[in-house]
Amino acid sequence: MPPSIGIDLGTTNCAVATVVKGQPRLIERATGQRLLPSLVGIREDGARVVGEEARLLMETMPEAVAHATKRFIGQRWTPELAARARLLYPYQLVAGPHDDVRVKLAGQALPISQISAMLLSELRLDAEEFFDREVTQAVITVPANFTDAQRAATREAAEIAGLKVLRLVNEPTAAAMAFGLAHGFSGNALVFDLGGGTFDVSVLRIDKGVFEVLATAGDPYFGGDDFDNVLVQWLLGHVTDEPSRERLTKDRAAVQQLKLVAEHAKCEVSQAMFARISTVLMPDSKQGGIPLESMLTRTFFENLVRPKTEYALKIVEQALNEANLDQSQVDSVLLVGGMTRVPLLRQLVAAHFRKEPDVRVDPDEAVALGAAIHAAELVEKGGKTLLLDVVGSTLGVQVAGGLVKPLISRNTMLPCSSTEIFYPGRDGQTVVRVPVVQGESARAVENVRLGELALEDLAETLRREHELHVTFSLDTEGQLAVSVTDQHSGQVKAVTIDQRTNLGGAETTALAQRETAHRKAQQSADPAERRATRHARRALHGVLVSLRRLQRELFHVAKEADQAEAKAVAVTLAEAIKAGDEVERTGSREEIEKVTTRLVLALQHLSGSQTG
Ligand code: AMP
Repeated sequence: MPPSIGIDLGTTNCAVATVVKGQPRLIERATGQRLLPSLVGIREDGARVVGEEARLLMETMPEAVAHATKRFIGQRWTPELAARARLLYPYQLVAGPHDDVRVKLAGQALPISQISAMLLSELRLDAEEFFDREVTQAVITVPANFTDAQRAATREAAEIAGLKVLRLVNEPTAAAMAFGLAHGFSGNALVFDLGGGTFDVSVLRIDKGVFEVLATAGDPYFGGDDFDNVLVQWLLGHVTDEPSRERLTKDRAAVQQLKLVAEHAKCEVSQAMFARISTVLMPDSKQGGIPLESMLTRTFFENLVRPKTEYALKIVEQALNEANLDQSQVDSVLLVGGMTRVPLLRQLVAAHFRKEPDVRVDPDEAVALGAAIHAAELVEKGGKTLLLDVVGSTLGVQVAGGLVKPLISRNTMLPCSSTEIFYPGRDGQTVVRVPVVQGESARAVENVRLGELALEDLAETLRREHELHVTFSLDTEGQLAVSVTDQHSGQVKAVTIDQRTNLGGAETTALAQRETAHRKAQQSADPAERRATRHARRALHGVLVSLRRLQRELFHVAKEADQAEAKAVAVTLAEAIKAGDEVERTGSREEIEKVTTRLVLALQHLSGSQTG
C-alpha cells in the first residue's frame, strides 16, 4: 500500500501525520520539532529557508520572510489588500500577471501558492524520511470557510509540491475525526479552532464513524495575532520617550521583535500567573537599544484581551444558531489551535457550555491527525469513516442592481447542485455574461468574485426563447463546476470560472520542476549524515535558547543593580549567540558540533558563576 499522509497547512504552523498500525501519529520534523512554523524566507544569497530557519532570518530581516500568507491564498490582488497587508506584515505584496497576490522576498515576487508549495515540500520531505520512500498522496486541510478560489489555489500548491490531493478536508472536520475515531465519540460536537491567524467554529453530528457537519462559522482574519497586537500596543505605552517611540514604530525589524516579545509574554502568562518582560529593543544599532521592562499578570492580560474573547463567543453563538442547536445540546466541545491554551478562553468556553471542553487530543496536532485518518481511509477504501461536509460560504450570481441571487446557500450538505434560469437581456443578444460570487453579503461587491460565466455564440432569437439553465454543482469537497443548458439549441456546455487566480499551466509546471529539483538536492545527502547533522543542529539550537534566556537575565541584572560587568557579559553573549545562529543556519556538522561544545562550556561557566 503506498503511504498516505494528512497535512495541516496552517496559517502559523503546519503539521504532517500518518496512520501506523491503525493509530494516527504525527511525523516529527527533521529538526526534531513536531510542528513546522509556516514561514518561508529568501536569504540575501537567494537560498530558501523554511520553518525554524526562516524564524531566525525573521529576527534580522523580517521583510525577507513570508508568514501568515495563507491569509492571501487564492485572493485577487487589490491596492486595498496590499495596503492592509502593509499594516500587518513587514513583507510587501505585489500583483502577479493573473492579478494574483505575490510576496516580494529578496527581490523575487513569489506566488502565494508557491510559498504554500514550499511548506508542503518540506513536510513531504519529512514524511519521506519517516517512510524511507516516496510519498505522493495527501489529504490537506483548509479552513471551513475557504472559498472555491482559495481551495483551487491550495490544490495548485499541492500540484507544485508534487502531491496528489486525495481530498481537501475542512480543518474542524478533520479535528473532530481525530477526537471521534480515537475515543469512539457519538453525539453533537462543537469544534472551537482558534489559531494564530484564523478562527473557525464547526458544529458536527458524529455517530459511529459518520461525521456530519451541521454548520460552520468563523473569521479568517481573527486569531492569536490580534491578541499579540493588543499586547504590542500596551508595551509601546511603556516607551514614554517620544523620539524613542517613533524610532521604534518606524523600524520593521524592531516592531517584529516587539511582536515576538508580546507573543512570548502571552504564552508565558498562559502557563504561569505572570510573565516578566525584560528586553532591549534594537531599532537601529547606531543610536543604541531601547530597554523594555515590565510585568504582565494574568489578570491584567485577561482584562486587556476580554473583548477579543467575547467576539469569539459571538461567533460560537452564530454557528449554534445556524445548526439549530442550543448550548445544552452540544455533547462535546473540542478545542483546537494553539490559542486554546490561553486559560481565559478555556474558562469562557467551559462557562458558556456549562461543561469542561475536551482537550484529550493535542490542540496543535488534532487537524493533521484527523487528516491522516481520512487519508488512510481513502487509500485503503475501508470506508469506516463517512465524511459528510457542508458548503462553507454561499455561492450565487450577480443580478440587476448589484445584488446577489444565491444558488447554493452556506451550510448546504455536500455534494449538491442548483439550477437557475437566465434569459439574455435583449432580443438578438449572442453573448451573456453572469458574474459568479461567493460570500454572505446581499451586495455583490462585498463578496468574493469568483469570475464570470460567459455564454457565447447564442443564436440570434427573441430573448424569451433563450432559456438558459445554469447549474452550479459542488462535489464532496466543495469544488465548483458550472454547466449551462441552452434550451433553444439543447446544447449543454461546461463553463469554466475564468477568474480564479490560478497561475496557469506553464508557470505551475516550471514551479513544480523547481520544487522537484529542490527536493532531490535535499535528498541527495547521505541519510545517516543528514540525521547526524539534524541532531547536531537541534543540540545547538537548544544551547542557543538557554544562552538567550541567560542573556536576557543578565541585561535585567545589569539594569536593576546597575552592574556594568553583567552588561558587558550580556553584550559578549549577544555576539556569541549571533555567531551561533549563523553556524546553526549554514554550518557543516563539524562546525556545528565545534560551536556547540564551545557554547556549552561558556553556558556552564556562566550558570556556575550566576548560582555560585
Ligand atoms: P496555530 O495557528 O494553531 O498554530 O496557533 C498559533 C497561535 O497559538 C499563536 O498565536 C500562538 O502564539 C498561540 N499559542 C501557541 N502556544 C501557546 C501557549 N502555550 N499559550 C498561549 N498561546 C499559544
